Amino acid sequence: MPFSKLGLCDPILKALADLGYTVPTAIQKQAIPVILSGRDLIAAAQTGTGKTASFVLPLLEKLNTERKLRGKRIRALILTPTRELAVQVEASISQYNKYLELSSMAMYGGVDSQPHKQRLIWGIDILVATPGRLLDMAHQRALHFDELEVLVLDEADRMLDMGFIDDINKIIERLPLQRQNLLFSATISDDVRLLAKRAINNPVEIAISRDKASAPKIAQWLITVDKGNKSSLLSHLIKEQHWGQALIFIETKHGAAKLVSQLEKRGIKAEAIHSGRIQAVREQILADFKSGKIKFLVATGIAARGIDIGELSRVVNYDLPDQVDDYIHRIGRTGRAGASGEAISFVSKDNFRNLCAIESRLGHIIVRKEIEGFTVKKVVPVSILNYVPKNKANNRNR
Ligand code: AMP
Repeated sequence: MPFSKLGLCDPILKALADLGYTVPTAIQKQAIPVILSGRDLIAAAQTGTGKTASFVLPLLEKLNTERKLRGKRIRALILTPTRELAVQVEASISQYNKYLELSSMAMYGGVDSQPHKQRLIWGIDILVATPGRLLDMAHQRALHFDELEVLVLDEADRMLDMGFIDDINKIIERLPLQRQNLLFSATISDDVRLLAKRAINNPVEIAISRDKASAPKIAQWLITVDKGNKSSLLSHLIKEQHWGQALIFIETKHGAAKLVSQLEKRGIKAEAIHSGRIQAVREQILADFKSGKIKFLVATGIAARGIDIGELSRVVNYDLPDQVDDYIHRIGRTGRAGASGEAISFVSKDNFRNLCAIESRLGHIIVRKEIEGFTVKKVVPVSILNYVPKNKANNRNR
């Protein structure tokens, strides 16, 4: 089915053609007609499925009217968990909006708020924002929600994981009752349902199955490794297998800095992004990684959230995440929209419980590879596939 059958106007179709998008992805096929019809929506879809375009395209179509914006007003609000995701969503809007004249802006904390305030004075059609900064601006009366038409909660599960529920509730209280609500989430947990109950009205629900979204294009494998050998194993793989680029996930910011220096000692240039680095530096590093100037990027899970690198072929779980959803999100960073990818996890004995939880969710054991010279002293047993995890994530230090 071509995009032209979905009811999008020519300027949008032209922008999509420029980007080389030929057919809509599964989520786009299902979500676009629902959003254009004006219904509320709950969509279970992870990154890599084309979910951003699935709400941005119909938003542009709906907002592309003669309506005049008043100052400090916005017509659509997209809430995202991180600044990186906000920037990325806004960049997508700009691409699809190329032949239209709608205005958009990404607004997030950790940077001077003055330029944001300045731009809000004229009103913005689509504002992409993280919850904290948005509330801050609302308190300062730098923006008003009385003309808001659509609310999008993007990566709702992650916003809840990151503790934004109070902020989100406060934001919702300020919005006009008459509005369209769209919620996107990798997983629809009980907490997400609770949020949906409060924010969303008689929604259509769609789900893009995990298997369809991730499994076929992504080769997943793991290497069991003793904890102390991880950095030398990584250097070995990078050199022996002539890796081009890799996004390497690590647990803590301290660990990220240490790994970068360990790699550098072995002649491998890498950079780290984590919550401890200032926004401008994070943005520059991301841009350099996207352009290929930086080949190896070590990132804590939270900092890496929302990174979209079209051709990324490899992610490494240097530390296995302690939440299954994080694993699913991370492997979703590779093999996006048709490309193939590889997700490699380093697993040591103390990761056994997490591994069981991940493999139970996947419904299969991840292929194990042995690397010569890295035989483990502490053997990792084979998983029990009906394992139920107990631990909750701890986001401090990431
Ligand atoms: P997302 O799931 O929104 O993070 O999108 C994943 C990637 O797929 C992004 O790099 C998009 O630019 C790309 N993409 C989205 N829709 C399409 C499409 N219909 N055809 C090809 N690529 C797409």
